[in-house]
Amino acid sequence: MKNPFENALSQIDRAVAVQGFDDDFLARLRDAEREVRISIPVLMDSGHTKMFEGYRVQHNSARGPYKGGIRFHPQTEINEVRALALWMTMKTAVVNLPMGGGKGGVTVDSKTLSVGELERLSRGWVRMLAPIIGPHSDVPAPDVNTTPQIMAWMVDEYEKITGDKTRATFTGKPLNCGGSEGRGEATGRGGWFVFDVLRKFVGLEKKCDIVVQGMGNVGGNAARIFRDNGARIIAMSDSRGGVYDAGGLDPAAVEAYKKGRGSLDGFPARTISNAELLELECDVLVPAALENQITAENAPRIKARMVLELANGPTTPEADDILLAKGIMVVPDILANAGGVAVSTFEWEQNLKNERWGEKEVVEKLRTQLSPEALNVHARADLLHTDLRRAAFIVALERIRKAIK
Ligand code: NAD
Repeated sequence: MKNPFENALSQIDRAVAVQGFDDDFLARLRDAEREVRISIPVLMDSGHTKMFEGYRVQHNSARGPYKGGIRFHPQTEINEVRALALWMTMKTAVVNLPMGGGKGGVTVDSKTLSVGELERLSRGWVRMLAPIIGPHSDVPAPDVNTTPQIMAWMVDEYEKITGDKTRATFTGKPLNCGGSEGRGEATGRGGWFVFDVLRKFVGLEKKCDIVVQGMGNVGGNAARIFRDNGARIIAMSDSRGGVYDAGGLDPAAVEAYKKGRGSLDGFPARTISNAELLELECDVLVPAALENQITAENAPRIKARMVLELANGPTTPEADDILLAKGIMVVPDILANAGGVAVSTFEWEQNLKNERWGEKEVVEKLRTQLSPEALNVHARADLLHTDLRRAAFIVALERIRKAIK
């Protein structure tokens, strides 16, 4: 299988085959503006110092400061971070936020660290990268295995090093450290707004059957928000496997169970593997975990009517072709999961203006930011007789090219 960066470049090629862009412009997007690899020394509880490899990729800043999360994961490597940074450039453009694209990461199984080790690693990442991040240059946020608490340590370290008190260099912070109302649920809620605009085109009601892979920040919140809006959540999973109930699960109960016991083992519903979960009969399949989950191998067996990509890069280009041929609507990550970076941008704006917006205001701003852009992408796909991913890339590329010009 290709690595995520090769997939991201291939997505650009596929869009450009539908609507051409000049080669000089495209060359600028095939490579990041800057990539930094760091080696972070962390004092472990044992008294030894251990080195961790980390990254920041600053892909493109034509439309604003680099923006993108930091991932802590054992499989994180440079090509994954490159892909995630490129997708951020496309994402901020497709939903028209005044930001560019970047991404960071550390190769680490953070579940094996103590709280103190995790804090020292988080602060270490900032110490190494403080010279190239900042409220007007590069604004990181949480991603897989990074939490509001980690953002609080990071923003505190950044303030200590630079004296900057805006707290606008990191988003996804806790509320009492300059965070925004609605940021925690933003990606899931944005997914709902995008779904609500696009569902009519495939004849889906709000009341429909949903399968969610991954129950972290994105998947857990999405499951709750979809259920609150009338949908039935028939399956959910974490990295070890999932649970299935055709009659519907209560996402809050599934999450509470996992929190209490550390796993879904013994939850009163049928247990299924992640592979089985993806192939369940349902209306909407919501991948909300990692890249490369829907591939040429399993795509022929996907039975959903819509795939709403809340994870980044869950579908390979080969799988895209298979799903398209089967008549399944794939709502691409750069549109479907843009709610997170949208509310992160609102948080940054509140910090810079020293304001606090109420939750209702944030949710309404999010809807206003995403819904017209989802319709715009759909209209472009119609006009060009193409799929939503190619159309979203074309809309994004046009905006980035305009900014560069
Ligand atoms: P998280 O760390 O909060 O949760 C990840 C979840 O995925 C966990 O439940 C974990 O158990 C599960 N998981 C891990 N490996 C899995 C596997 N192989 N199969 C099934 N489940 C697995 O991370 P998150 O912030 O929810 O991010 C999830 C995805 O959403 C990522 O692709 C991320 O890049 C993307 N995303 C996150 C945000 C955000 O605001 N956090 C915004 C946009 C996109």
